[in-house]
Amino acid sequence: MGKTGESLSESMYAIHALGLAPRRSAPYSPAMDYALAILLSALAMTLIVGGRYLLTSGFFAWLTGRVRPGHYDQLKPQIAREIRWSLLSAAIYGVPAGIVAWGWQNAGWTKIYTDPELYPLWYLPLSLLLFLFLHDTWFYWTHRLFHRPQWFKIAHAVHHDSRPPTAWAAMSFHPVEAVSGAIVIPALVIALPIHVGVLGLLLLVMTVMGVSNHMGWEMFPRWLVRGRPGKWLITATHHEKHHELYRGNYGLYFRFWDRICGTDIGLADIGSRFGGDAGGKRVRG
Ligand SMILES: [Zn+2]
Ligand SMILES: [Zn+2]
Repeated sequence: MGKTGESLSESMYAIHALGLAPRRSAPYSPAMDYALAILLSALAMTLIVGGRYLLTSGFFAWLTGRVRPGHYDQLKPQIAREIRWSLLSAAIYGVPAGIVAWGWQNAGWTKIYTDPELYPLWYLPLSLLLFLFLHDTWFYWTHRLFHRPQWFKIAHAVHHDSRPPTAWAAMSFHPVEAVSGAIVIPALVIALPIHVGVLGLLLLVMTVMGVSNHMGWEMFPRWLVRGRPGKWLITATHHEKHHELYRGNYGLYFRFWDRICGTDIGLADIGSRFGGDAGGKRVRG
């Protein structure tokens, strides 16, 4: 044997130590399989959320270029920052979404249902409103917390670094704020029944409003924004005012909490695409 035998046994030892050798006697570990499946689901969801962000923000940024030519010309370094933070947020959003998507498909963790008649049909629109209201409620109160000076510095200054915001700022959050946003819908689908189609609609509303509320001009008609529906609904004109003044207008979809808590500070003067006051001035916050 001699030298060769010793070095061979040393190499075999190294291979085992590195875990490279096939472990015939190792017990089958379902936990590892679950962990891998959940990891892949989180990765897939990160790619979906990131892709959805790039497509939606890209589309509304393109639309902004058509409707308000030159509007983002001075904001290129800011837009690069917004995209970097948003893609990091997409990875953070992907984790709970991926875990819950896996649990929905494989373990019955959620109350997402596919037969529309499982609950009375009136529950379909009601569940959409309920989810929007609960998401809005969570957002309003966490957003108010993030505007406390100590929290603002840690978690929310990144989002307000967009002055004025652009369509790319929709997911421009510090990771702490991204976590607070990422857990809402996964938690709600575990707690409350929602039809898979209504969930799709909810995600569509969430995405389109998140992007369009930051793009710097109003896409909804004046009768809606300045009329009766606009007293309760949040669109770009309302959220732009939050980015101008910081104090007030903390809501996401509805003005409900802002109005009852006295934090509603009215509408910004950004002009409506359809209202005849296009090109309204912007105030830098
Ligand atoms: Zn914002
Ligand atoms: Zn804010």
